[in-house]
Amino acid sequence: MNGQMMQQPLLISSLLVYAERHHGEQEIVSRRIEGDIHRYTYRDLAARSRRMANALAALGVQAGATVATLAWNGYRHMELYYAVSGSGSILHTLNPRLHPDQVVYIADHAEDQVLFFDLTFLPLVEAIASRVKTIRHFVVMTDRAHMPASKIDGLLCYEDLVDAQDDQFAWPSFDENSASSLCYTSGTTGNPKGVLYSHRSTLLHTYAAALPDALHCSAHDAVLPVVPMFHVNAWGLPYIACMVGAKLVFPGAALDGKSLHDLFEGERVTLSAGVPTVWQGLLAYVESNNLTFSTMKRTIIGGSACPPTMMRTFQEKYGVFVLHVWGMTEMSPLGTVCNFKARNLEQDSAERYAVQAKQGRVVFGVDMKVVDSLGKEIPWDGETSGELLVRGPWIVDRYFKGEGGNPLIDGWFPTGDVANIDVDGFMQITDRAKDVIKSGGEWISSIDIENVAVAHPAVAMAACIGIVHPKWDERPLLVVVRKPGAELAREQMLEFFDGKIAKWWTPDDVVFADTIPLGATGKMQKTKLRELYCAHRLPTV
Ligand code: AMP
Repeated sequence: MNGQMMQQPLLISSLLVYAERHHGEQEIVSRRIEGDIHRYTYRDLAARSRRMANALAALGVQAGATVATLAWNGYRHMELYYAVSGSGSILHTLNPRLHPDQVVYIADHAEDQVLFFDLTFLPLVEAIASRVKTIRHFVVMTDRAHMPASKIDGLLCYEDLVDAQDDQFAWPSFDENSASSLCYTSGTTGNPKGVLYSHRSTLLHTYAAALPDALHCSAHDAVLPVVPMFHVNAWGLPYIACMVGAKLVFPGAALDGKSLHDLFEGERVTLSAGVPTVWQGLLAYVESNNLTFSTMKRTIIGGSACPPTMMRTFQEKYGVFVLHVWGMTEMSPLGTVCNFKARNLEQDSAERYAVQAKQGRVVFGVDMKVVDSLGKEIPWDGETSGELLVRGPWIVDRYFKGEGGNPLIDGWFPTGDVANIDVDGFMQITDRAKDVIKSGGEWISSIDIENVAVAHPAVAMAACIGIVHPKWDERPLLVVVRKPGAELAREQMLEFFDGKIAKWWTPDDVVFADTIPLGATGKMQKTKLRELYCAHRLPTV
């Protein structure tokens, strides 16, 4: 016998309808590309999203069509999140940090029909406009006064499109399994692959991610997502904020320490989110100017491992609790969050930091396991690592257009991460499978080595890679960027590892560099580093 409850599809538009009805007065603040600060409310967001939905219809965009954006975090981008998905089309958030050839490949692959872009990206759009095959309309996300001169024919103006429409629009109802948005993986090898989210997967992810033991978002929060809306939907925050009625603060293109800190303080931000490399810049600015965070209570750090020193600085010096999270584009993205269990609260500070260095416990909805090389599940002992597999209703089933064939193994998605899980269910990533250093048949975690290295006061950034070794297969090489003005010699760096990791994990050599290449989502590009240092001769050879 079936239950006798209403059948209402889980649709993204319902988040906006709720936010307008119950949090209509709540503010959304954006630092605009045009240079000023823009403020309006959820009520305005809803009305303008409906106008934009009418504009999309007027441009001939039909349900199921893909609409692309090349945009920073801002209110117009937020309007497109709802106007496009809400009207049954698919929002494709292009990553502007990719090479133009890759942007062309992705836009063609996705069959994008309209491209909305911020003024910043005009040069990129001009470089690709004549090459993309399916885009019919190019829209600059600005007003008439800021429209640029351009060689692109028939360039449209966002505010003109909005002004020309009525704000009456009834969000359509359709199957909750319909596609809502599309995001391509970073693709360090081969072409990027598309992950096509649905309304249902997005709503379920939103419910789970907002929970107290997950990101703990509420109407009391002012949320500033530094993580870009072009990278896995800014970790779901544009949806979560509507679900709970939180104030939203968008930083636009200005992601330097000063601009971010000014917004945190000026807008009384309580919660933020970003990759470790962004926080490095922010902390350096705050520390060197003797500033504090007067309202920020928590910050979500993920995308790559958060070094324990960064956690200590945030928590002990500034009173900002670090929520270490792990996820991937293929997971919408949230998989685990490192929130304590009751028994951790009884532990001493050293024990708690050891827990926080882990990537955390799964949120309800995600199931995970680690397996050995034969695919057999490894017990949760907190020590033995293997490949991490996941499953759940917001995890990819297959890539867009079937690229790469069936990615699943017996219904589980292999993440490509190497991890262990402890008795309490806390998962710790020890490496990306391709970054792990294989020395004499054993594995060395490059993340553990980097975490020790960045704890040295003279180190700004550190990356550890495996270098071919005739006896051990591979041995670790540490690439270090010193802090400006700091002095640090190879021997001092190596001595710093004494007693902190197993002796045989100590890098065989250290090289100093001016920078470490970062990828389109702010992660250290170890493939590039391996290419750069492939001829490096270790002193132990
Ligand atoms: P992306 O799909 O670009 O978001 O990348 C996902 C990958 O980033 C994961 O498979 C991990 O390798 C890595 N990652 C994400 N969060 C973390 C974290 N907290 N610690 C270590 N690696 C992470």
